[in-house]
Amino acid sequence: MGKSGTHERLEARPIDDDSLMFVDDDHFVEETVCLVTGAGSGIGRATAVAMAANGTTAVATDVDESGLAGTAELGDEIGVDGRVETVAGDLTDDDDIERIVETAADHGTLRYLANVAGMQHIDAIEDFPMEQYDRMHDVMLRAPLYLAKRTIPHIRATDDGVGAVGNMASVHGHYVTSDKVGYNVSKFGLRGLTQSIAAEGGDGLRSFSISTGYVKTPLVTEQIPDTAEQRGISVDEVIDDVMLGQSRVTEMMDPVDVANLFVFGFSKHATHLNGGDLLFDGGMTLTYE
Ligand code: NAD
Repeated sequence: MGKSGTHERLEARPIDDDSLMFVDDDHFVEETVCLVTGAGSGIGRATAVAMAANGTTAVATDVDESGLAGTAELGDEIGVDGRVETVAGDLTDDDDIERIVETAADHGTLRYLANVAGMQHIDAIEDFPMEQYDRMHDVMLRAPLYLAKRTIPHIRATDDGVGAVGNMASVHGHYVTSDKVGYNVSKFGLRGLTQSIAAEGGDGLRSFSISTGYVKTPLVTEQIPDTAEQRGISVDEVIDDVMLGQSRVTEMMDPVDVANLFVFGFSKHATHLNGGDLLFDGGMTLTYE
């Protein structure tokens, strides 16, 4: 049971025609571009593929080039209706951010931006390294703002002004756990950014956030066997007691479930979702036993 993926409850559901949600939307065509960050892995990869499966051109970006190649391959395997294009870049670098948005806009009409890239660091406040805190804010808070700042003019320049910025928040944007101050503050901030974009948006341009509990991605599944070993408990006990202790749903979420929320959030069915948060946490933050 040493490595992630060797326990069946950590195996993510495949991304395919069965698990993907398909939405009929006049804007979900190849000319429309959806820029997705963190798209070399986990939720970002699933979101890029889901938007491409729904007919758009998904421009997948990540610092991890081999991860991006895997995302493009997955798009080919599924036979998406749209396209998956890739552009590598580091979200801590403003020049890279500018290049990423320009590349996305060169592929068609840029209407959607999914800010998904993120990272975790565990340390008590007294020990939290400030350079790590700054890096987390750069990737999870500053980059989403700068990407939005560069993307919004493209949305405003479209014929009908329709577009949206979707931000991947977390239950940690609603309540917090100890030893995650960089993550907690970033996710609370990201919800503030979402509402700020909504305030300046209007009839066409919207923003929304998505808050989930634990999702089966490398960010989480790679820690679980180590946590089990550290605490001297089984992988099942980590999943049931540590990850899902306060959730009423007894299994972790799959990346494709989150990708489907982005598809919905970007679609015409979410016209009134503006500044709001899609809290899909299995009851974690709103119930207790
Ligand atoms: P992941 O580790 O699978 O993917 C994160 C991606 O972000 C990686 O591919 C990584 O290379 C990329 N990234 C990190 N720093 C970058 C940088 N400087 N420039 C460009 N790309 C960079 O993780 P995931 O679980 O898919 O997480 C995606 C988002 O979802 C994160 O914002 C995370 O906080 C959020 N989230 C995850 C969970 C979960 O349980 N997995 C739950 C709630 C929210």
